[in-house]
Amino acid sequence: MGKEQSAYCIALEQLENASERLDLEPGIHDILKVPKRSLIVSVTIRMDDGDIGVFSGCRVQHMDARGPFKGGIRYHPDVTLDEVTALAMWMTWKCAVVDIPYGGAKGGITCNPKQMSRTELERLTRRYTSMIYDFIGPYRDVPAPDVYTDSQTMAWIMDTYGQIRGYSVPECVTGKPISIGGSEGRTEATSLGVDICAREAAKKTNLKLKGATVAVQGFGNVGWNAAKIVHDWGAKVIAVSDSMGGIHNPNGLNPYDVYEHKLKTGSVVGYKDSKKITNEEVLETKCDILIPAALENQINKTNADKVQAKIVAEGANGPTTPDADAVLCEKGTLLIPDILANAGGVTVSYYEWVQNLERDHWPLEEVNQKLETKIVKAFNDVYNMSKKNKCDMRNAALTLGVGRVADAIKTLGLWP
Ligand code: NAD
Repeated sequence: MGKEQSAYCIALEQLENASERLDLEPGIHDILKVPKRSLIVSVTIRMDDGDIGVFSGCRVQHMDARGPFKGGIRYHPDVTLDEVTALAMWMTWKCAVVDIPYGGAKGGITCNPKQMSRTELERLTRRYTSMIYDFIGPYRDVPAPDVYTDSQTMAWIMDTYGQIRGYSVPECVTGKPISIGGSEGRTEATSLGVDICAREAAKKTNLKLKGATVAVQGFGNVGWNAAKIVHDWGAKVIAVSDSMGGIHNPNGLNPYDVYEHKLKTGSVVGYKDSKKITNEEVLETKCDILIPAALENQINKTNADKVQAKIVAEGANGPTTPDADAVLCEKGTLLIPDILANAGGVTVSYYEWVQNLERDHWPLEEVNQKLETKIVKAFNDVYNMSKKNKCDMRNAALTLGVGRVADAIKTLGLWP
């Protein structure tokens, strides 16, 4: 699906459109087209069977004009430098859209974590950390979890960083377990942000959230928590999926029970009272709100016209291709782009970093209240810009984000 255009090509096309709308000086556009720094590393570890495993990894730092680099680390067989570069660029715009003082980065290792033991993953993480050590740090570049990495991965990064440095530095990474400086609410933050955006979009389209039908692609951290929260708010989750396939029940699924089922069996597939459907069918399910929360390029020119949802809230990064954007816009679908919809994660990561720097720990209510204020403001900023510029929400968000970063670059000037 969607192999025709790489993620970085899509990111460049989006940047070009935003630059034109903003009438950016060509030199500023040239600066933004390429990452400030890309580090490629070969991560070598001893496997459990005694063999040597060699894995390709990278850390891409796109732009830090508004603050230290920030972005997740992904472990997946399909990780490429191209994909990580696109994700780093999207992080730059995302931090600017929600107006937090960070630049964009991303990291990844090409590996299959599902076929690796916990001890192999720990060695992989520690070795990778040691290899990017010189380029990360609390005022330099602050990693976080992404696909198939989690709070335990962040704990190993924090420990490795601290061991090399000689003292504990909790603020070197976010998305940590609460026991070592993680923030309340970080695990659910991305999903809460997605659902807040979907709720605000529902208000704009006169859709009642209570009883609204929801389909979620991907049942990992973002997808499962988004399903759980929107279910708690009274919406009806009728379809979910993971890498093994999807399930559907028009009368509603209980996300908590589906989660238990996945914990026991490894997949949502096979859950009682549900019909097995394909991942494609999840995206095409008749529903009010669709939350793609898996990987890139899932809604593309082959299936965009079959998407029936009124609102699409992008939990994943880059799930919709530009071709598909055009189709959805034409159909009148209200699409909330990734750089706004899933910005709740980096927002609470920022709150975690601030708490760590201040050696403080805020209660959950305070974190969630701050997140709510931030996301609602960003949603309205983007929505109002889309009305003012007569464009879709993606173009509005990109214009807002790229414009803020370009302003910072111009204000800082060039050294020397
Ligand atoms: P995760 O590893 O916890 O979950 C990924 C889920 O996607 C799993 O359920 C997996 O089975 C499923 N999946 C994989 N391939 C699939 C396929 N082909 N079809 C359907 N499902 C498939 O990852 P996550 O942290 O939930 O991240 C999901 C997406 O959200 C990614 O695009 C990530 O970049 C983005 N994101 C995550 C965060 C965060 O805080 N974790 C923040 C912002 C954006």
